Amino acid sequence: MATYELPKTYDPKTTEERIYAWWEKGGYFSPSNDPHKPGFDPSRKPYVISIPPPNVTGELHVGHAMFVSVEDLMIRYHRMKGIPTLWVPGSDHAGIATQLQVEKMLSNEGLSREAIGRDEFLRRTWAWKEKYGGIITRQIRRLGASCDWNRERFTLDEGLSRAVREAFVRLYEQELIYRGPRLINWSPGLKTAVSDLEVEYSEEPGTLYYFKYQLADNPTEYIAVATTRPETILGDTAVAVHPDDRRYRKFVGRQVIVPILGRLIPVITDTYVDREFGTGALKITPGHDPNDYMIGQRHNLPVISVLDEAAKVNKNGGPYQGQDRFECRKNMWADMLQAGLVVKEVPYTINVPRTQRGGEIVEPMISTQWFVHIQPLAEKAIAAVRDGRIRIVPDHFAKVYFNWMENIQDWCISRQLWWGHRIPAWHCADCRKMTVSLQDPDKCAHCGGSQILQDPDVLDTWFSSGLWPFSTLGWPDQTPDLDYFYPTTMMETAYDILFFWVARMIMMGLEFTGEVPFNTVYLHGLIRDEHGRKMSKSHGIVVDPLIIMDELGTDALRFTLLVGSAPGNDMSLEVKRVEANRNFCNKIWNAGRFVIGCLSQVKEEPKAKAEWTLADGWIWARLQGLVRDAERLFQSYQYGEAGRQIYEFFWNEFADWYLEIAKMQMAEGGDRAYYTASTLARILDLSLRLLHPFAPFITEELWGHLRKALQDTPLASESAEWPEALIIAAWPMPRPEEQWEAQRVADFTLVQELVRVVRNLRAEKNVPPSRKLPMILAAGEKTTILRAQAATMAALAQLDLQKMEIHRSLDEKPAGNVAMVVGAVEIYLPLTEIVNIEEEKARLNKLFSEAEEQIIRLEALLSSPFATKAPAAVVQKEREKLEGFRETAAKVRSQLASLED
Ligand SMILES: [Zn+2]
Repeated sequence: MATYELPKTYDPKTTEERIYAWWEKGGYFSPSNDPHKPGFDPSRKPYVISIPPPNVTGELHVGHAMFVSVEDLMIRYHRMKGIPTLWVPGSDHAGIATQLQVEKMLSNEGLSREAIGRDEFLRRTWAWKEKYGGIITRQIRRLGASCDWNRERFTLDEGLSRAVREAFVRLYEQELIYRGPRLINWSPGLKTAVSDLEVEYSEEPGTLYYFKYQLADNPTEYIAVATTRPETILGDTAVAVHPDDRRYRKFVGRQVIVPILGRLIPVITDTYVDREFGTGALKITPGHDPNDYMIGQRHNLPVISVLDEAAKVNKNGGPYQGQDRFECRKNMWADMLQAGLVVKEVPYTINVPRTQRGGEIVEPMISTQWFVHIQPLAEKAIAAVRDGRIRIVPDHFAKVYFNWMENIQDWCISRQLWWGHRIPAWHCADCRKMTVSLQDPDKCAHCGGSQILQDPDVLDTWFSSGLWPFSTLGWPDQTPDLDYFYPTTMMETAYDILFFWVARMIMMGLEFTGEVPFNTVYLHGLIRDEHGRKMSKSHGIVVDPLIIMDELGTDALRFTLLVGSAPGNDMSLEVKRVEANRNFCNKIWNAGRFVIGCLSQVKEEPKAKAEWTLADGWIWARLQGLVRDAERLFQSYQYGEAGRQIYEFFWNEFADWYLEIAKMQMAEGGDRAYYTASTLARILDLSLRLLHPFAPFITEELWGHLRKALQDTPLASESAEWPEALIIAAWPMPRPEEQWEAQRVADFTLVQELVRVVRNLRAEKNVPPSRKLPMILAAGEKTTILRAQAATMAALAQLDLQKMEIHRSLDEKPAGNVAMVVGAVEIYLPLTEIVNIEEEKARLNKLFSEAEEQIIRLEALLSSPFATKAPAAVVQKEREKLEGFRETAAKVRSQLASLED
């Protein structure tokens, strides 16, 4: 029989790529029940996730690594449970981000998009996408993502473009889309509208400028007004005061003179005005401030726009026409100072709105844009979460969701970009009406005129990603995929895009399919550095997952991200934790090498039925407990805790204890070796299955070796039912606890504690490992158990088996011994020669007072309301603890007495 041997070390670099290619080639990423394949059973409920599509311009960052790890874990877990799983991959065309990349490239060539024109620009952008668009998906593969790449989609591909068009036309026909002038956030650098969500506010030092609004009928009188943006004075159309403000009562209804321009505007009253802020009088610029815009609407004030799309002053700005907004601010203030209109300047911290992409200051501007009338959509989306059709995990985010959805503003969906879904609306030069249609029209739908021109704008990227869960499955066609896989099961993403994306998908899904797009929203936290700062390029504190994967392996990275996270909580990523998990991977490998080595030692079938040792029973019972706990934790989305418990089991129980004992059992040979090898193989097999969703590569590789190694041994039947790959092997199903389990665990735990106590004492007293010590135990009702475990204890604690005495009780305490107590068992070690008696007394006294302290604490606890209010089982546990400490105290007291002899 050939001896099967495992390479000494695990090499992630060569293994990961090979394993991934093998999985992909094997078709394991495709659903096991597929409407496009024979034998399809529509009654089996699938588990479906649509990937949050990364930007096609993107390069892998730790945020991607996080969502890929969590989603891949969810998918692998369900796949192993035999559920048909589908994880739909794809990428987002990312309007602004991509366009900026291509513009940068053009500018390096001395070109601009305006110079080459729209068609050529789009051609170049597609070429760019073909060249670089695959980078991010290749990197996602490296993380082990088991997506069905046959179903990969792109938000600008033909099918999704058709879906976008259908969605736009339907909303337009229901009058839920309209076009009109509104105040929006304008990015002067990018020359496009940006959504509220794409604006970030930063506190920056600024100035509060106080100046005079002179009364038209008596210029010696004035109202002092404060502003942070003096250039907007050019667009003022009123001065507002609070109706109850006595200071300004005499001015209300009169007119004031706009500085420099000389226009006359009214003094009005509005309860919006805060009497405490500034001077209590507010200049109203409806064309450049969202609050002023609302006040302007209420009072029918004219809206004057004073800036053009590059944020330069337009003709409404009189002498400042052509100046940049900040240049105008300076010049105008100087002119006002000259004219005696300045009161004072005060340093002031302002909340500056900046664009997420370009970073420059956003200008609120009046602009004609396309909007979605969002309230009717939002109402349905609120109901879907309220009535439980969609569950948000963790559930406290539901409150945030409701609050945002209830205050939602109409959604500006047009962008003045070229890269994206062009708005399917044609303006007629003859009748000025608009034709919106699924097919490109060649004439006006209203007057039949042929002078029609398509709207130049494209749609907000989030419009197409809002359709993602169903457009990727074929909508608007009722495809077999849409039929079977929709609604999807799980939407997993970072909590910071709950509104950007998740809310829009819920609204769009309900609107277009009449169903929720997914049943559960799982929100993971953001990843921070070790100082708790959000990782972002602007902070320069980015941990590059590609470098980590190169150096420490993908499994170590995944394990760290998964075990460090809990739903909705931010986590910090420290390289030293990834290193620790790389060590765990090595531990797994070494344990695997040991087990496979043991298998090759088994040469013949057993002669008798299995007789399991205490350690065999213990490790099996512990594993079954772990399987039960892991299942419960997976079902409640506590993946991090599940991973931690599997880690603890594998390292602290299986590797540290059972493998040590297995060595001795293997040495016994015969049936004992056979059954030990069988236990080793079964525990390793189930552990690898439990670890697979966390660390897919090393577990697949090792499991493959285990499977092959078993085939060459008399134990081959152990793996008879195993499939060819771990990725599709069955998830360990929890079974009810069997009667014998608790007792075995308790007995073995006692052995462990005795061994620990001896080991600790040896370490404390520097007893060399070569010195085998005699030991006397007074074991009470544990006598039989401990006698059977004498050899094990002797081996693990370096005791002299020949000089071990295990008695039920001792008539007399053995003199000259160090005495210790574990539960009800007394331990005596003849260490008098190396132990100082006084020190020993001190040690026992300390032990005694610790036990006393616990007794006092527990007695107080058990006579408090706790005893009646806490669950009976919990109270009982505390009573048992108290009993244990009382026993300990009694034993220690008698040991102290024996030292006095
Ligand atoms: Zn017309």
